[in-house]
Amino acid sequence: MNIDGKQVAADLRKTLAVKVELLKKEQGIVPGLTVVLVGEDPASQIYVRNKVKQTREVGMISNEIKLPVETTQTQLLEELAHLNDDKSVHGILVQLPLPKHIDESVIIAAIEPTKDVDGFHAMNSGRLLNGESGALVPCTPQGCIILAKTHLGDDLSGKHAVVIGRSNIVGKPVALLLLQENCTVTITHSRTKNLAGICQQADILVAAVGRPEFVKAEWIKPGATVIDVGINRIEDETGKAKLVGDVDYKNVQSVCGAITPVPGGVGPMTIACLLKNTIEAAQRCN
Ligand code: NAD
Repeated sequence: MNIDGKQVAADLRKTLAVKVELLKKEQGIVPGLTVVLVGEDPASQIYVRNKVKQTREVGMISNEIKLPVETTQTQLLEELAHLNDDKSVHGILVQLPLPKHIDESVIIAAIEPTKDVDGFHAMNSGRLLNGESGALVPCTPQGCIILAKTHLGDDLSGKHAVVIGRSNIVGKPVALLLLQENCTVTITHSRTKNLAGICQQADILVAAVGRPEFVKAEWIKPGATVIDVGINRIEDETGKAKLVGDVDYKNVQSVCGAITPVPGGVGPMTIACLLKNTIEAAQRCN
């Protein structure tokens, strides 16, 4: 069975549009998201365009700041200082990757944590680690949990969740969220031994590896819920470019209980959760 991320994201955006309307009516607040894009990376430009479009569609204010590739770290920090002070801006997102001469960790640390809607600031990741309320949680991991619950229901407790990947953007935060849901969590990575054997124990398998069709059907426990975070561009037999996930979808589909397709699974959830975070940030700014 497919878990339809497009549909789940569309449903979430509908709920968010109602929340935005209420915030406007009851508190006079219009949630505002500003996306900062440095340089002209084509993939980043597409992401930013989609973010702007969907932000406006739910009734929020969307601003985009495009800076040339030669922008210095100091100039970007100055820009962020203005945005941190601007009361009409509730969410700030600096599109990654940044040009090589800019240190991403310095930039992330400079975003006011209450406006850090990507959830990458140490204050937010620390809160997530401590299980404190009030953290802005990274968007893709949030989307993974929502999708798993779409199939399994709200109670994930006691399930064995295996996460492949330990990045700060996906692997680690998704593992922490699964732990918060009372799953028994195993984090695996490039140095893990017997990866296939560990995956075979998973009731929930989250693949965030960045390797096309890496997870094979033999690794899947029959009936497992598979969340495929990977987005990999490959060429099909005719040489045409296509997107595939980290899971060998065609073969895994017949073994697992449910799977998120690529495209149309986790991808659409990321922006929907970004809007959700911005609305939460706006609610808390009062
Ligand atoms: P990353 O490169 O930062 O991390 C990849 C992880 O995979 C690492 O922790 C590494 O240890 C692990 N890994 C690599 N080779 C392995 C192996 N042979 N066996 C086991 N583990 C191995 O990547 P990331 O930023 O976490 O992204 C992962 C994937 O998710 C990418 O395809 C990326 O494009 C995609 N992604 C999708 C979204 C979305 O919105 N759907 C968002 C973020 C990332």
